Amino acid sequence: GPAYDGSVINRIDLRGRSLSPRELTEILPRPEIGVEDAAEKVAPILHEVRLHGASALRDLSERFDGVRPVHLRVPAERMAQALETLDPLVRDGLEEAIRRVRTVHAAQRPQPFAVDLAPGAQVRQRWIPVRRVGLYVPGGIAVYPSSVIMSVVAAQEAGVRELAVASPPQRDNDGLPHPTILAACALLGVQEVYAVGGAQAIGMFAYGAAGSEPQDGDYLCEPVDVITGPGNIYVAAAKRLVRGVVGIDSEAGPTEIAVLADGGADPTHVALDLISQGEHTPDAAAVLVTPSVELAAAVDARLVDLVPETKHAARVAQALSGPQSAIIVVDDLEQGLDVVDSYGAEHLEIQTADAAAVAERVQSAGAIFVGPYSPVPLGDYMAGSNHVLPTGGCAHYSSGLGVHSFLRAVQVVEYSADALQELADRIVAVANDEDLPAHGEAIKARFQ
Ligand code: NAD
Repeated sequence: GPAYDGSVINRIDLRGRSLSPRELTEILPRPEIGVEDAAEKVAPILHEVRLHGASALRDLSERFDGVRPVHLRVPAERMAQALETLDPLVRDGLEEAIRRVRTVHAAQRPQPFAVDLAPGAQVRQRWIPVRRVGLYVPGGIAVYPSSVIMSVVAAQEAGVRELAVASPPQRDNDGLPHPTILAACALLGVQEVYAVGGAQAIGMFAYGAAGSEPQDGDYLCEPVDVITGPGNIYVAAAKRLVRGVVGIDSEAGPTEIAVLADGGADPTHVALDLISQGEHTPDAAAVLVTPSVELAAAVDARLVDLVPETKHAARVAQALSGPQSAIIVVDDLEQGLDVVDSYGAEHLEIQTADAAAVAERVQSAGAIFVGPYSPVPLGDYMAGSNHVLPTGGCAHYSSGLGVHSFLRAVQVVEYSADALQELADRIVAVANDEDLPAHGEAIKARFQ
């Protein structure tokens, strides 16, 4: 085909190349600094929080957020005030998002089951919510009231009883989180909210934190069972480091969008979708995969025009020109599907003919957006789907946030005397073979 020469964004030409999944993974765009690099920086932060509780949280906020919060726990009257002063149009938007996200997450609850293996031999499975969760809501470069909805509604629909939220202190709100974040928490009935950001918030949730000032109360924050929520690379790294002490959802780090598009896609819409995710952070990744050299060139040309016009042009330009972003030209849709599966994007848009059928074939993505009228910003706010999604290739093994993130499957075993007796000899034989004869004796004793 004709040559394609990218300008705003890197280009990768895979035409005529047949690559194994491993070779593809090596060629695909990835950020310069990964979670492992960030983990080295955040390990000492977690250590400080674990040792010094609230006083470390205040010191770290001063260092990373430029403000020393007086109230680490947001006072109830500030929560109420944030809701009272919330712009009615924004409130309407948040309420619509809550309704849709709640409807989807209620449908997501897994069903318990009971299996009869023989008369009197039953195994049941119950789903039990964890008791207490810590929900991280980002608020560094931008603030994310939408993430409050995604995490809180999923936890509520799972049946979690104790929900705590943490979000970075803002210099212009007396060191409290952004007022719309507080209002969203109040709308959802969450009263335990902390003005703590970054890795230190993850440390507080994992280890708990003793207070250091009278306003911190007897004990500032009790440890939680599960920590979820999106954040920057430091938040993702901190979650990786505390996994095991607590459960986490996926590593939901800096945003990624991949678009699989053919020559029928609208280049302006594709360009605007890439730009919209670049707006999150200079670390964001935007990838277009297309068999159409014409579309690749047209999207690139639109980026050249549109990036300088967007409000956060510098941030977007940095995201799109970084090593994590690219336009990838492929031979055909088949190769395109191999590429998007190897990449495992957080968000994957399918803008091709028969988009729904193409989407069905995708094997690896955090969430899939089908056709020209389901762009990622719809999912960011109001589709009803969850926007807290795995990044950095974690989509290969983990799911986006949902009720499952807060549930444990517990199997319950109930056998009758007859049902146990029927198996007794076989259990004894296998137990003796493992040289664990007391196992067999425990069974036999019941029938002597
Ligand atoms: P954030 O709240 O995630 O991070 C801000 C905190 O980072 C600060 O409070 C500070 O404590 C810490 N920090 C900053 N620089 C640091 C350093 N050098 N060392 C240690 N800690 C440091 O807010 P943000 O930075 O705006 O990032 C939000 C992120 O969330 C973006 O990357 C966005 O793409 C991502 N996001 C992801 C998803 C998802 O589902 N994957 C959803 C929404 C947002």
